[in-house]
Amino acid sequence: MMKTLLLTENAEDIASAAELIKNGNVVGIPTETVYGLGADACNENAVKAVFAAKGRPADNPLIVHIADFSQAEKYTSYVPALAYRLAERFCPGALTMVLPKNESIPLITSGGLDTVGIRVPSHRAMHRIIELSGCPIAAPSANISGLPSPTCAGHVMRDMNGKISAVVDGGVSEYGVESTVISFDSENSVRILRPGAVTPEMLSEICRDVIIDPAILNELAEDASAPSPGMKYKHYSPKANIIMVEGNYNNFIKYIRENEKDNVWLLVFDNDSTEFPYRYMTYGADSSQQAHLLFHRLRELDEAGAEKVYVRAPSKDGVGLAVYNRLIRAAGFEVIKV
Ligand code: AMP
Ligand code: MG
Repeated sequence: MMKTLLLTENAEDIASAAELIKNGNVVGIPTETVYGLGADACNENAVKAVFAAKGRPADNPLIVHIADFSQAEKYTSYVPALAYRLAERFCPGALTMVLPKNESIPLITSGGLDTVGIRVPSHRAMHRIIELSGCPIAAPSANISGLPSPTCAGHVMRDMNGKISAVVDGGVSEYGVESTVISFDSENSVRILRPGAVTPEMLSEICRDVIIDPAILNELAEDASAPSPGMKYKHYSPKANIIMVEGNYNNFIKYIRENEKDNVWLLVFDNDSTEFPYRYMTYGADSSQQAHLLFHRLRELDEAGAEKVYVRAPSKDGVGLAVYNRLIRAAGFEVIKV
């Protein structure tokens, strides 16, 4: 066990965090999406320590964070013109672009792939840490593999205390869901491999075609190859059994009354009636609030000792697609239509 320092966003602490990363250590860092476990993306031992702290399968690649998109050329062998157009609009921000990597990014970082996901985060502390460390920072979500992603420093401490050098407390994550991951299918078209805060509608303003990979909403067949390794794994799951119920509120509550005693939990929308006799939590009234609150609530449900949770399925519009994608994975693809 090592002692995990809790750092603040003041200049001295940010400099310490950058120094730790520069010297090959792993630090929990805030971003506008979720908290990340940051390490020098070019240092194989540091990256190994990230995989070890998370218990992450070795074939699940890490996203590499840089301070400015112009640096993408240092770590990749080819950057299509469309990537620059997207960068103008979405960098810094919650967009990860998968590009062919060059030899400066070790295979351990890319999970053995010949591509690398590149992102320019907007969070001030994260941005500053990249600049001061002078390295590209590999940073997966800072949770134990399979658990809900952390959206505040306390979540990171709960999963990583004793396993990493420090955590920087940069407040609650602005978006609450991970970045949108895209690959390039052709000159004018991109494929969404993981939905996030940058929505298909937003990408359509720049790209002629925006393809939503079918694996975002459907379980991969056992023998299918995943266009993005994260699609293969059970994810974002609390200990509780999560069941998604898709339909209007009246049908939702009718289904539960008919099928359950009172020992279940519900996760519903803010404006749903609270007359039901079940224990419940709410997760916002619109898609961006739901994104902001989802992982927080999944962790709170575990703390409350919930064993079975019925969740009202969110809308798939806008950032709702990301919320739906995380929940359907937390539910192991169990969705009841009412
Ligand atoms: P996390 O680090 O927890 O945010 O997860 C990052 C996810 O981004 C991975 O699980 C992959 O699904 C996806 N990803 C990262 N790099 C690549 C890549 N080179 N090719 C395809 N998908 C990637
Ligand atoms: Mg993750």
